[in-house]
Amino acid sequence: MPKLIPVADEQSKPFWDAANERRLLVHKCTACNTLQFPPQPTCRDCGSAKLEWTQASGRGHILTYFVVHDGRFGRRMADQPYNVAVIALDEDPRVNFYANLPGVPPHQVPVGAAVKVIFEEVEGGQLVPDWQVVR
Ligand SMILES: [Zn+2]
Repeated sequence: MPKLIPVADEQSKPFWDAANERRLLVHKCTACNTLQFPPQPTCRDCGSAKLEWTQASGRGHILTYFVVHDGRFGRRMADQPYNVAVIALDEDPRVNFYANLPGVPPHQVPVGAAVKVIFEEVEGGQLVPDWQVVR
């Protein structure tokens, strides 16, 4: 499934570089230990700007999902309908990622199931995270 091609900026470049090494990074606040993603200039809990990248387990659970039937991303139109699941990271369920869940037919997403991160290559050789149901 062709994915959107990420454009790394100064703030997100470490995330995308790590993805190319099949590692999932999230931001961690060194003042209060909150995890957050996507990267923000300050901590959502305490407002500190003392954030660093830390490697996540790559394990999570499916919170909910929807199915895109009539989306507007040109690169994705040929794949419709496709799943977009919301993943809660196991070490902090408030950290969420979107997933297409390769191999899971549209509308058949097992909400609550355990998932693990996988990485798929897009044009230009960049790896991007997706998630796979753990069976
Ligand atoms: Zn904090």
